Amino acid sequence: MKRSKKIIFAVHCLLNQNARAQTVAKCPGPVKEFLKYCIKNDYGIVPIDCPQLKFEPLIRDPETKEFYDNKTSREASREVIGRVIEQIKLYQKNNYKVCGIFGVEGSPTCGAIKTHIRDENGESASVKEPGIFFEELKKVMDSAGLSVDIYDWDIQAKKMLK
Ligand code: SF4
Repeated sequence: MKRSKKIIFAVHCLLNQNARAQTVAKCPGPVKEFLKYCIKNDYGIVPIDCPQLKFEPLIRDPETKEFYDNKTSREASREVIGRVIEQIKLYQKNNYKVCGIFGVEGSPTCGAIKTHIRDENGESASVKEPGIFFEELKKVMDSAGLSVDIYDWDIQAKKMLK
């Protein structure tokens, strides 16, 4: 069978919502609409390890970005990013097209376009900025001179966000 030679990178929970913090899983297993989108475009999917599960329990409460803005969380992200960068280089070196890196809309860690912060009333609020993992990823990609488009997948809206 002919290879498409088209790859995307996807954060872990797009393929496994069981990894998410309690109450924020949007479906029982993989995000079906995201998989359909990948199948339609013949994208091979490279999963990105869950950064939170490197230092947090599987059963945990949802938090905002401030909670994860610390050394432990950023180091865990950097550890995951190291492998992502290696794999991007590997595919690009072999003339594959890396068509995007997908985060999850709203995550304090893996939101690529939108995350959640605490507002002045102490309430969780959606804002247009990346979570901790994507902040770190962008820094590393810039310093490595790598350019790949970055998106969120909005699970509720069933579409990508640029
Ligand atoms: S840290 Fe990222 S991969 Fe892990 S559950 Fe949260 S959004 Fe998904």
